[in-house]
Amino acid sequence: MLKMFFPDIYIKSIYELPLDELKNMGIKALFFDIDNTVAPFDVAFPDEKTAAFFCELKKEGFKVCLLSNNNRKRVELFNKPLKANAVWKAGKPGVKKLNSVIKKLGETSQSAAIVGDQVFTDMYCAHRAGLLAIYTEPICNRDQLITKVKRGAEKIVLKIYKRKTGI
Ligand SMILES: [Mg+2]
Repeated sequence: MLKMFFPDIYIKSIYELPLDELKNMGIKALFFDIDNTVAPFDVAFPDEKTAAFFCELKKEGFKVCLLSNNNRKRVELFNKPLKANAVWKAGKPGVKKLNSVIKKLGETSQSAAIVGDQVFTDMYCAHRAGLLAIYTEPICNRDQLITKVKRGAEKIVLKIYKRKTGI
């Protein structure tokens, strides 16, 4: 049961994404959570490093999509300089919106991955939809209240995961 929350790949930040390995696995589309994955939840715009990284991902041939449970205003504003595909109020860990965007992008569950910092939303969502689940450590320890509540349980899941995988 806990396996549904475990990452397939564990990285410290999005900049550690193993792009060649992902390509070899047939991954063509990357779905990014925003808050505390790509930027702190209370920072409105991506910084230069993030914008450059998203450019690089596109150059490397990846389809890039923001997949956030946050509202339209937050997601649209954040996406302005990135010009990625974007889904707001994604309803993670629900998979309805995700599945329809995968289809729209011409991809399948086998050719897409989710990158996120929360096991109960991002990792669970990825596994439910049959996508590769890539976990990043949260950017900072500032969180929305609702997220803060979940972090305690999350820590336990990650501890078990780390013990199993020896990370
Ligand atoms: Mg997040």
